[in-house]
Amino acid sequence: MLHPQCRGPGLTRASTRPPQEARRQLDPKLDVHVRRVFQRAGLIEPGSSMNAVIEAARDLAPDFPGSLDAPAWEIGRNWCRPSRPHCDECPVSAVCPRVGTRQ
Ligand code: SF4
Repeated sequence: MLHPQCRGPGLTRASTRPPQEARRQLDPKLDVHVRRVFQRAGLIEPGSSMNAVIEAARDLAPDFPGSLDAPAWEIGRNWCRPSRPHCDECPVSAVCPRVGTRQ
């Protein structure tokens, strides 16, 4: 027997849009490496908040914004260091505008 909330048009309306908590779980984690890479790559304005990272990720990968989290973190951790980024060795060097760097 179906639960009363699982019957009727209520289920249809509720299932067409992910709940707020589920949507948050799809977002990238708030991290300084990710924000720095997004900023230098020109995806957000310099000095933007962490929420700007989430909004940019939602625009770039609407089905799973968090899919950008790990690659951006890896780039930030290994090449896009806070001072003296290693742009020549960075995997996105060919397409990155290097905003705010001296390279
Ligand atoms: S090319 Fe340079 S500025 Fe751009 S993400 Fe890579 S290390 Fe950072």
